[in-house]
Amino acid sequence: MRMVVATKNKGKIKEITEILQDLGIQVVSQDELNIKIDVVEDGTTFEENAVKKASEIMNISKEITLADDSGLEVDYLNGAPGIYSARYAGPNATDYDNNNKLLKALEGVPFEKRTARFVCAIAAVFPDGRKIVARGECEGIINFQPAGQNGFGYDPLFYIPEYGMTMAEIDPQLKNKISHRAKALNMLKEELKKYISL
Ligand code: IMP
Repeated sequence: MRMVVATKNKGKIKEITEILQDLGIQVVSQDELNIKIDVVEDGTTFEENAVKKASEIMNISKEITLADDSGLEVDYLNGAPGIYSARYAGPNATDYDNNNKLLKALEGVPFEKRTARFVCAIAAVFPDGRKIVARGECEGIINFQPAGQNGFGYDPLFYIPEYGMTMAEIDPQLKNKISHRAKALNMLKEELKKYISL
């Protein structure tokens, strides 16, 4: 069985390939199939965006297609930046800009009120119209200053009390086990097993 991944992000393709390989599923990226379109992420939830991306690419690939959408929810900010995480500080914002904006928005907020979570929704859309959607979450606290060099995005500010480190300080292999994306992917994998055995 083959599955198309609707992303241009090589790190995500690698992670998805590794997690799905023991199901005997071959993973190909939209780039490998020369599918160039950028799907507009205008849904109101992570799930809607993931399903939209997977569906639009599936309409072109005509094969089972998988897509994800992820971001950071901060409780004190009522869930912001949420689905706007990549462009929190503006359309061309860098990770540095986004992290700075987040630190400013939380200025003066004490540690115990800086609770947050990374969220990832992953959708698999089948050519016959069936869909599987899974959500994974990873809880943490927004630190007062960045720390660590690994990862990307908000990782340097995302402190995980259980490990006493930020997501940018922990070993990348450990991140791939505990992350919101890994959790969503593993849940999706369990659902896929049922579909494959049908
Ligand atoms: P997307 O799902 O690739 O569009 O990611 C949306 C945005 O959420 C990214 O640009 C990051 O700012 C943030 N984000 C998603 N996952 C992570 C993560 O694992 N670490 C840090 N930031 C993340």
